[in-house]
Amino acid sequence: MILKQNDRAAPAPEGAPDVFWYAVNGTPAPSDFQDVAAFDDAHRLADGLAIVLAPLAASRIGEDLRAARAAVGEEVYLIAVLESALSPAWLERIIEMGADDVVFQSDQPAILLSLARAHRVVDRRTRAMDSLTDLMEQRNYLQYCIDNIPAPIFFKNADGTYLGCNRAFETITGLSSEQIIGSTVHDVAPQLLALKYDEVDRSLIASGGVQIYEAHCSFSDGTPRIVSYQKAVMADRQGRPLGIAGTMLDITERKALEAKLIRAAERDPLTDCYNRRKFFEMALALSAEAHAVGRPVTVAVIDIDHFKSVNDRFGHHVGDQVLCRVARHLERQIGDGNVMARAGGEEFFVILPGHTIASAGDILDAARQNIAAYDIACEYASIPVTISLGLAVHDDPSETIWDVLKRADKALYSAKNAGRNRIVIAA
Ligand code: GH3
Ligand code: MG
Ligand code: MG
Repeated sequence: MILKQNDRAAPAPEGAPDVFWYAVNGTPAPSDFQDVAAFDDAHRLADGLAIVLAPLAASRIGEDLRAARAAVGEEVYLIAVLESALSPAWLERIIEMGADDVVFQSDQPAILLSLARAHRVVDRRTRAMDSLTDLMEQRNYLQYCIDNIPAPIFFKNADGTYLGCNRAFETITGLSSEQIIGSTVHDVAPQLLALKYDEVDRSLIASGGVQIYEAHCSFSDGTPRIVSYQKAVMADRQGRPLGIAGTMLDITERKALEAKLIRAAERDPLTDCYNRRKFFEMALALSAEAHAVGRPVTVAVIDIDHFKSVNDRFGHHVGDQVLCRVARHLERQIGDGNVMARAGGEEFFVILPGHTIASAGDILDAARQNIAAYDIACEYASIPVTISLGLAVHDDPSETIWDVLKRADKALYSAKNAGRNRIVIAA
């Protein structure tokens, strides 16, 4: 009969579940079942991929059933085998007490039917187990992949609860994935940052799509970093947000280099003043802004008097120091909102947006007087320095900034001719 296929001497076909005979009180299997392997603890299959036939003594049905279930485990398909027929109510109770099916020992067709049902259940369970194993393998493989990516990666549900992360994210937060998963940003980041992260996450969930932004943050080792957050909303087929996946790219070094490059492109290396290129860029924007609201703009060209003699008397490197001191002094005096640049040599441009000739003249003449009043203390000497200035107002938007500077330069020439250390206003 079919039960023979599970005889130990004749192993079951590939993939078929094992069928065992398990008797609580050592009841020997009736002749029809004698080829069925005896169940013992060594065959206890926790994943439930087995079928066990358990005889229940008529006088101890409940007791034997509980003992059988305890011995074979919760997942094993357990068929209760009765010595004699019982009422349908009893059969139902036996199922309720933990049997998966119940048969009469002498009813062979019913036993074969029950075994066929059991095989189908176990087959389905086997397939489910295989799929689960595949899924676990895929999940482990994905985790392995993201763990080997150096950028921190995280993903969370729509409520902001972390569902997973990679090793780099554990490192920067200083927390294990067990601590991170199930927690929220409030558990992993300092309070103020957490509030901000929460806000941007919510707005991303509301808007959908992708979010890229830069932010200052500090890692678990306490180092302040600049990070580019790159996040995306994951949505279901109906477009409902499931959560957010994101990565954090550490761009601290890149930002520092960018700042250096910007400074190098915009500034004069000796005096650290803006260079001509940056001056014209800013001057164009500032005069357009001022003209848009009907306000004047004044520009000045400033030149250090007799600077060649400073070089000649004290050497070029002292000349450099004087140049830098005059630059710092002028910057301080012209104040915020006005822009100064080194035009070249010992010459500077200044733009004072919103200023008339009169108010700009007051500021710049105060600077001139101040420079003239104090010698500049350098390495080996105190050097008296004066400056000459040419001023021109830019109140006609049809005139270009270059033309206005040309007029200011002419005025400077007049100042030099008139004896230096003075301001001349362009016609
Ligand atoms: P003036 O009052 O007519 O302006 O006389 P000046 O001597 O200042 O004018 P001039 O144009 O004859 O000389 C400018 C000098 O500035 C010549 C040049 O050697 C010096 N100079 C230009 N750039 C630098 C610099 O970067 N460092 C130093 N030390 N000197 C510089
Ligand atoms: Mg000069
Ligand atoms: Mg000059």
